[in-house]
Amino acid sequence: MKQDAIQLKGLTKTYRAGKGQPEVHALKAVDLTIPRGSVFGLLGPNGAGKSTLINILAGLVTKTAGQVTIWGFDQDRNPRQSRAAIGVMPQELNLDPFFTPRAALEVQAGLYGVPKSQRYSDEILAMIGLSDKANAYARSLSGGMQRRLLLGKALVHRPQILVLDEPTAGVDIELRQMLWTNVRQLNKAGTTIILTTHYLQEAEEICDEIAIINHGEVVARDSTTNLLGRLDARSMVIHPESPAKDLPSAPGITASHRDDGAVVLSYHSQKTSADQVLEAVRGAGITIKDVKTDEADLEDVFLALTSSL
Ligand code: ADP
Ligand code: MG
Repeated sequence: MKQDAIQLKGLTKTYRAGKGQPEVHALKAVDLTIPRGSVFGLLGPNGAGKSTLINILAGLVTKTAGQVTIWGFDQDRNPRQSRAAIGVMPQELNLDPFFTPRAALEVQAGLYGVPKSQRYSDEILAMIGLSDKANAYARSLSGGMQRRLLLGKALVHRPQILVLDEPTAGVDIELRQMLWTNVRQLNKAGTTIILTTHYLQEAEEICDEIAIINHGEVVARDSTTNLLGRLDARSMVIHPESPAKDLPSAPGITASHRDDGAVVLSYHSQKTSADQVLEAVRGAGITIKDVKTDEADLEDVFLALTSSL
């Protein structure tokens, strides 16, 4: 049996805010498995619960209920082993300003009990492109360099699983590409990668498998290829020359009238081409005055997925 990197059963987190404030149900009984060896994307809008999930994995947030198994180790019963299997690059910069990159890596290695002989700070510094800044104070590093150092810190104990929480939010293209190069290399060498993002395109680009999380619930989980197939919803809005009597009808196309006289056609771009849609429109005797198409954006995708599941 192929073992999972991560197994979540009924994972629940309720933040209890101050007096008079409502509770926040950040995770609602999430069941999720993440296979070993994958690049797995946790995709969802701001506030969906991504960081909460990641921070529970990292041991930074205490879960309210449920079971977390990391690399086969139950987080409650084997806290040390489960912690050793995972390295997390957090969303927020949290570096000690007085540590140099080399010192930050050494201290982190110490925290994880990595013996001096097994440390590889110089290799990490080279990999994250900070060799020439090894002895500079963290506070003198640019934001991008600090993020790279956070990646380095996540790697000191050679974890089987590397988790990156919104690694590219607000970073420039150069850093983004460097991160993806690092991520691909590490994955090739056998590290399971989990990353969160609210960019659909980013998840498409780099992830083998994706879970979409919304309001603390997993609303879809599939291979990227399969998921994209479900995300190819398009709509075309036709403004006819004169009011349309008949609606276009063709397989794969759903047509409806809009109050302003426009005709709205919904279809899936992998099955139906825009040309076929236009043909159906002409077939219904409609002369087109104006036409507009829409791609489903992430918001539509969430709506579609939550209503269809
Ligand atoms: P994401 O990372 O997907 O943007 P988060 O996990 O950060 O989502 O947040 C999920 C929900 O939990 C949000 O409604 C957020 O406001 C709330 N939340 C996060 N951290 C805390 C906290 N420490 N106390 C109270 N509420 C929190
Ligand atoms: Mg977050």
